[in-house]
Amino acid sequence: MHIPASDQTFTMTIDGRPVAGATEFNVTNPVTGTFLALAPHCSDEQLDQAVAAARAAFPAWAALALEDRRQYLRTMADTIEAHTELLADLVVQEQGKPRPVARAEVAGLAYWLRATADIPLVETVNQDDSERRSITRHVPLGVVAAITPWNYPLGQASFKLGPALLAGNTVILKPSAFTPLANLKLGEVLREVLPPGVLNVITGTGGLGSRVTSHPGFDKISFTGSTTTGRTVMASAAANLARVTLELGGNDAAIVLPDVDVKQVAPQLFWAAFANTGQICLATKRLYIHADIYDALARELAHLVATVTLGDPAQDENVELGPVSNLRQYQTVVDLLNDCRDQGYPFLSGGLPDPDSAGYFIRPTLVDNPPDSARIVREEQFGPVLPLLKYTDTADAVTRANDSEFGLGASVWGADTEAAYAVAQQLQAGTVWVNESMHLHPQVPFGGHKQSGIGVESGQAGVLAFTNAQTLTIKHTSTAA
Ligand code: NAD
Repeated sequence: MHIPASDQTFTMTIDGRPVAGATEFNVTNPVTGTFLALAPHCSDEQLDQAVAAARAAFPAWAALALEDRRQYLRTMADTIEAHTELLADLVVQEQGKPRPVARAEVAGLAYWLRATADIPLVETVNQDDSERRSITRHVPLGVVAAITPWNYPLGQASFKLGPALLAGNTVILKPSAFTPLANLKLGEVLREVLPPGVLNVITGTGGLGSRVTSHPGFDKISFTGSTTTGRTVMASAAANLARVTLELGGNDAAIVLPDVDVKQVAPQLFWAAFANTGQICLATKRLYIHADIYDALARELAHLVATVTLGDPAQDENVELGPVSNLRQYQTVVDLLNDCRDQGYPFLSGGLPDPDSAGYFIRPTLVDNPPDSARIVREEQFGPVLPLLKYTDTADAVTRANDSEFGLGASVWGADTEAAYAVAQQLQAGTVWVNESMHLHPQVPFGGHKQSGIGVESGQAGVLAFTNAQTLTIKHTSTAA
């Protein structure tokens, strides 16, 4: 199913009602770099209205039996699945990813909601004896701001919506201004499911994110985006001590040990780096390869890079990689490629795009063994460029992999899994995989070390992050007359 976004109308969801923007802003098609659709811009008054609606809805939502909120999450999942094609089509158009991947993103949102619905909200008994009964339970925080980036417009929401709502909070979802459309449609289809004010969706440009984080009406800011913005969000949230969860940038290292089967791991490493055109926080962004297999693996990867199908995913289901998703990110990646060229680092395949070509396409590019000081090694590219880095000593590879301000994910690849696991244990990252990459699960907490974030999403810890711990004690003394 394909309905051009320009033929559709998009409204915000505030207090369960459709709300047109005070003004509108343009959304761009990354395939062409031209106009895609108009999206509503949220004014200050509309932001106040959304906060007031979420606040008004909070007491009744929080007072529901937990089982009722679990059921709401399951109904949300059913409704989202019933609109898979509509939502996926918008993700394809505004974000530029292949249609099967967009469908999987919608399915993932439904899956995450259902799995989150089953997560227990534990109550701990601290003391239970003749003197006193003491328990610690988890109560909702209030109104949550969910601020998300553009790489997985719906997928990023899935880490926040289910846990926040299950815990008893109401939510204002603010997606990236680069990709507002699927989230606006999500709010629309869920109007029939949730009580008014429980989930509000607002969009806008010109600093809506900072207007949200500096608004005194939020009890928690759940933010996913760059490390630079994350610092601003944390400073802003400090004003009224709003809780924060920060899921930030990464520069994930993969270490390939010399005993791997090169032909077998090459496609896995290729997709670990280039899925979603490299625009995944957990994508492999530095590939450390043992010298014994460096040339063979580089050759295999170069072949995959040269033969992957790029194109317009809205027109062709067989497209494997779409464009970079927006002009800002395209310029970031081109800037890094220019730096590689200026410094004389060889490209094994790919390279700078033709400046006259339409849209934001960049063919996946391998950079041949640049120095550790290279910008492409030190900075987060968040795009289809991968430095291949040669090592001879595993301890040295670990030191180089850990030499980063980031600590989001990492992976180790080797035939001897015990040896690979021993290496994995030395890596400084929130998640370290052995012989796979980027595998996430709704019941497994995920978050960044160092400047890749604060707190976790998913799993029981991800739900508890949307609560306050509350201890209740009963002293067993008779007060009866
Ligand atoms: P970004 O920081 O520019 O924007 C993220 C969101 O924050 C958007 O909704 C944006 O409108 C909003 N925003 C911008 N400025 C703001 C401000 N001052 N206050 C509040 N909100 C503000 O990031 P991006 O370019 O959208 O996303 C790419 C980055 O996100 C990469 O660094 C990537 O690694 C990171 N990311 C991290 C994870 C993770 O789980 N750790 C997942 C995906 C992306």
